[in-house]
Amino acid sequence: GMTPQPSPEAGAAVKAADRAHVFHSWSAQDLIDPLAVAGAEGSYFWDYDGTRYLDFTSGLVFTNIGYQHPKVVAAIQEQAAKLTTFAPAFAVEARSEAARLIAERTPGDLDKIFFTNGGADAVEHAVRMARLHTGRPKVLAAYRSYHGGTQQAINITGDPRRWANDSATNGVVHFWAPFLYRSRFYAETEEQECARALEHLETTIAFEGPGTIAAIILETVPGTAGIMVPPPGYLAGVRKLCDKYGIVFVLDEVMAGFGRTGEWFAADLFGVTPDLMTFAKGVNSGYVPLGGVALSQKIADTFGKRPYPGGLTYSGHPLACAAAVATINVMAQEGVVENAKRLGETVLGPGLAELAARHPSVGEVRGVGMFWALELVKDRETREPLVPYNAAGEANAPMAAFAAAAKKNGLWPFVNMNRTHVVPPCNATEAELKAGLAALDAALSVADEHTV
Ligand code: PLP
Repeated sequence: GMTPQPSPEAGAAVKAADRAHVFHSWSAQDLIDPLAVAGAEGSYFWDYDGTRYLDFTSGLVFTNIGYQHPKVVAAIQEQAAKLTTFAPAFAVEARSEAARLIAERTPGDLDKIFFTNGGADAVEHAVRMARLHTGRPKVLAAYRSYHGGTQQAINITGDPRRWANDSATNGVVHFWAPFLYRSRFYAETEEQECARALEHLETTIAFEGPGTIAAIILETVPGTAGIMVPPPGYLAGVRKLCDKYGIVFVLDEVMAGFGRTGEWFAADLFGVTPDLMTFAKGVNSGYVPLGGVALSQKIADTFGKRPYPGGLTYSGHPLACAAAVATINVMAQEGVVENAKRLGETVLGPGLAELAARHPSVGEVRGVGMFWALELVKDRETREPLVPYNAAGEANAPMAAFAAAAKKNGLWPFVNMNRTHVVPPCNATEAELKAGLAALDAALSVADEHTV
């Protein structure tokens, strides 16, 4: 429908103020060159020169129903007119209804909802709840994970962004979760990887002292670290270990939740119910900041007669909750979760496998629903990554060339280390996915030039 009106002067002003005054996350401020975005709709956004991009990143994997869905925009406008804000100690319609709709969809008895402003603070609170519930100090978390940028959440995170932030007195112990393609367990099959990863986790528990461990936290499907769908039986095995040792099982569904995997929650793929589950992002397609923790009755009961010592000024903000209510209703009415499952199985998965068959730079394709990763390699035999772990500058040139080629072909790609993640909106159409696959095809030819 829309025809973007090019306005390079307006874009230049936006860019100039950004460079003068906006301090960007995770960045060396002098080395970045952010694109000035003029607008967005559905699966596309465009700049002030009128160049349109198909967004295969869903922002930061949060626009699960695309940009500017008219029903969600209208719901935000209506809520703003009715009651823009209200303090968290009161019962407010939008908050009550959002909690009800979320609780209706979460697995098992995860029926109490604590609202936060985003994913990291959801993780902070989940860990705090687990520590208070058990009276134990430690948290076990996976290498190759991302749980957020606040202090405790970054300490739990298993990626290089933790290195400069680690307080080293945080009670976090890292372990290896299953990842067959780069197995830490010398496994050759998913069954071996699963069994050995569980044995490694139980050994870690034994040597840390079961009575000292409050929680095991895992992303149901690790996202930022590479979309490693766990082998069947792994999460059920972790559930069993948690029950055996009285440890709280926390699943972080900030990225994997709300349709991304073709289920409402990724836990549904495995039939597993954690004790606490974090969410954010897709809960309202990221239109207004919102996250939260879904609590089991057991953990909620810990704070039945004793106060929960934590909270946020904007917990359950009416605008964010109204956006969540509208988003969840749109997802249900428009079959967005089913769309992610169906097109993941019939278009995206097979399309990516077909690219992998023709491009020597693709070491592995993995994923589910609208949640896929291509692991790019220099050498398929040795599996040497296309760029070294945590590469920057010149060492990262092959991935930069890949990304530039994708953009030249109208596709905005998600790039992390030696991978591209294919994470379009969950309501993307077959035609959009095919256009994106064609652009990826061209960009992979550039990556191929850097293989042996
Ligand atoms: N947990 C997971 C699994 C995530 O993917 C993210 C963000 O990408 C977070 C937590 C942190 O969420 P936020 O950036 O909203 O604080």
